[in-house]
Amino acid sequence: MGKGGTVNTAWISAGSNLGDRRAQLQRGLAALEACGRIIGVSSCYETEPVGNREQAWFLNLALGLETRLAPRPLLAFCQRVELAQGRVRPFPNAPRTLDLDILFYGDLVIVEPDLVLPHPRLQDRRFVLEPLAEIAPLLEHPVLHRSVRQLLELCPDRSEVRKITAGG
Ligand code: AMP
Repeated sequence: MGKGGTVNTAWISAGSNLGDRRAQLQRGLAALEACGRIIGVSSCYETEPVGNREQAWFLNLALGLETRLAPRPLLAFCQRVELAQGRVRPFPNAPRTLDLDILFYGDLVIVEPDLVLPHPRLQDRRFVLEPLAEIAPLLEHPVLHRSVRQLLELCPDRSEVRKITAGG
């Protein structure tokens, strides 16, 4: 972690549905350690694709990262990590080697063209909420004023999300 700046906690969703999914998630975690301290990592979850359903199932996890990077440099860092893992974007919702979304950055609220915090669709996605609820159930959404656990209970998304136990 570099000097200067205050430490903030960001919550990030990582997903992969192309190639060696587990190895890509592991490499993503290792790369993120270069910009902070990982304070929690959920189990891996196998999840049904949402949106473009004609593609492979994902592995997803959620993590907490204490970082001195401000939100925009953190987003740029995440995008570099995605690119380093060979991510290409031929069309929206295309299969991806690694996808990193910033879900929360402390209780910051930002609405800009290329960065929206909290992530605008997190409350609609079971594949995001289930892993996050495992590591941060009481975290409160600064706009919706609901905890992650409550958002999961309220989530209308019925797509399948299966926790993978050790070795699975
Ligand atoms: P995706 O294809 O799902 O990885 O979406 C990436 C795009 O979403 C990028 O152009 C980002 O600038 C934008 N974006 C907006 N808010 C966020 C966020 N909270 N986390 C990650 N990407 C974001």
